[in-house]
Amino acid sequence: MFGKILIANRGEIVCRVIRTARKLGVRTVAVYSDADVRALHVEMADEAVHIGPSPVGESYLRGDRIIAAALATSAQAIHPGYGFLSENPDFVDQVTAAGLVFIGPSAASIRAMGLKDAAKRLMEKAGVPVVPGYHGEAQEIVLLASKAREVGYPVLIKARAGGGGKGMRRVDHPDDFSEALSGARREAKAAFGDDRVLVEKYVDKPRHIEVQVFGDNFGNAVHLYERDCSAQRRHQKVIEEVPAPGMTPALRKAMTEAAVKAAKAINYSGAGTIEFIADASGGLKPDRFWFMEMNTRLQVEHPVTEMVTGVDLVEWQLRVASGEKLPKTQGEIALAGHAFEARIYAEDAAKGFLPATGMLHHLQFPDAPPQGAAMRIETGVRAGDAISPFYDPMIAKLVVHAKDRTTALGALHDALARTEVAGSTVNMAFLAALAADADFAAGDVDTGLIGRHQDALVAVAAPSDEAIAAAALAATDAGAPGRAADPWSSLAGYAHFHTLARRTRLRFGEENILARVSARPDGRFQVALEAPHDAINSHDLRNLLRTARWPGHVTVFEGAVGYTFAVPDPLAKADEAAAATGSLRAPMPGLVKLVRAAAGDAVIKGQPLLILEAMKMEHTIAAPHDGVIAEIATEGAQVSDGTVLVRFEDGQG
Ligand code: ADP
Ligand code: ADP
Ligand code: MG
Repeated sequence: MFGKILIANRGEIVCRVIRTARKLGVRTVAVYSDADVRALHVEMADEAVHIGPSPVGESYLRGDRIIAAALATSAQAIHPGYGFLSENPDFVDQVTAAGLVFIGPSAASIRAMGLKDAAKRLMEKAGVPVVPGYHGEAQEIVLLASKAREVGYPVLIKARAGGGGKGMRRVDHPDDFSEALSGARREAKAAFGDDRVLVEKYVDKPRHIEVQVFGDNFGNAVHLYERDCSAQRRHQKVIEEVPAPGMTPALRKAMTEAAVKAAKAINYSGAGTIEFIADASGGLKPDRFWFMEMNTRLQVEHPVTEMVTGVDLVEWQLRVASGEKLPKTQGEIALAGHAFEARIYAEDAAKGFLPATGMLHHLQFPDAPPQGAAMRIETGVRAGDAISPFYDPMIAKLVVHAKDRTTALGALHDALARTEVAGSTVNMAFLAALAADADFAAGDVDTGLIGRHQDALVAVAAPSDEAIAAAALAATDAGAPGRAADPWSSLAGYAHFHTLARRTRLRFGEENILARVSARPDGRFQVALEAPHDAINSHDLRNLLRTARWPGHVTVFEGAVGYTFAVPDPLAKADEAAAATGSLRAPMPGLVKLVRAAAGDAVIKGQPLLILEAMKMEHTIAAPHDGVIAEIATEGAQVSDGTVLVRFEDGQG
């Protein structure tokens, strides 16, 4: 076993690897960028090395600096985590050339699977079923379009170098092919520096079911069952589970055998995942699944596999990389119970899952597992940390395990309802709605489920009068939970038979709410809200709702839903006039990729005006109403959060 390893990543996965390293007596070195100076992963590691400025290209993707850090700290091996350099074969070569061990597969295995087109050709040869489509070298538009027609619409255009759902476009009609192709190419070029694509049949009622595989350097390879990752938005996973609902012994046998065959075909060593797509339109069938791609690394969702198998996959990674054999044979790996993972993200579900940023002023996870279940919280942040625009906006993974799916799903509900995040827009309400969705609960999942039920899943419920009253109490410092004594109650006593009152103004979305909180002589509070809301007595509230106060705001938690109210500071002269004028501001820092309108143009509501590239994704900014453009951002401009992108002519706000 190694004495010391460096972990070339950031956030939760570093914290996760450190926990196992510590268990095995292995010392750890973290690396960090400017933005991560005080990050949890830096604090947890035995040592930490600064590797550069915040942008990933100048820090976490700088293989040279990471290798230098490993050599300087006498680490013997590098764990890449996921993302960043984890699937970069040139980095593996450089690590090896520096005399260090890469904790993962060989550069050759990664290369074999690195490009989706070549991987598919290889898998076809190895006898693994692959998605029908075109995965050749030639890339002329006319050829691709004719291949798409041959394959039959709907088709999926995919960046061959793709990952994380980027550079992918579904096309339903030949007329839309060339536009979708340019979009996919542009995104692929930006994200991967490679704009070549493949065209696949879009599978009907697609289920994403993947198989965890593990190989060692002695030619052994095993599988650790499947994971169902069909609950996806923007082709990215949100809730994962094991076993896959409706899995049959025949399909599991066919799928796991194909996965092990795929791993053996490339002499795979370490943890890997074979992703399959299954056509569930007629139920899961052993002849209706196809290879999509292999992820040659530890997966974000690996904890669900650990929960049902009892295997510590990071421990296996370290053992195999240090030259040991696989700790277990296939026959010794059993699956028990059911596990779910929900990914908590800083993102705005109602705005097309737009990534969000912000300071996590308040962050609290359940302090004990739900009844009858085991729970794991995987996170790399703590209260007071920021979700910056530089990195993936994942906040935490909530993982539960219980004896069966119904119990595990109940545990997931419970754990979500006891999680509190405030300070940034988060997907908690969306996760809770998804977990409660009737089809999801029935195990009737496919990758289109979220899209089909989107309106219901992202609907922003209005806060109840009780929630508003709780916000008013917190805003006036009355009845904030966790206080030993209410500061007002002594005042109320002092005032004898008078009623003390404080007024507060709250804003929820567009609505302004005026509340009058009175302290009664009995030590309780009465909250009078403007019509149409009702007056509420404080003793009706305390146990039901939890609140968190943070600068300028109060968040009320009701189940997994957090209602955030702005509490305007009456002394501050808000720049509200500016916000109300007809201008479109950048929702997040990014790059103006493409501008499709010019000053003087008359545009109609919904017309795309420009494309903003942020967090490596393209976001189309459309006209919110009809109007004439007075000013528009220039192509190639780097903009920060709140920069005016488009200004409309006067009186058109
Ligand atoms: P996959 O199942 O292909 O890993 P994921 O949704 O788990 O899909 O991740 C999508 C991509 O983004 C992967 O390449 C993963 O490595 C990367 N990724 C996901 N979350 C993070 C994160 N928090 N930090 C860095 N990279 C991430
Ligand atoms: P990435 O490398 O970005 O993870 P994948 O090839 O794994 O790309 O595809 C990501 C997701 O897109 C899958 O999980 C699935 O939901 C969807 N998808 C991929 N291929 C198909 C297909 N042929 N038909 C339908 N959906 C697909
Ligand atoms: Mg994938």
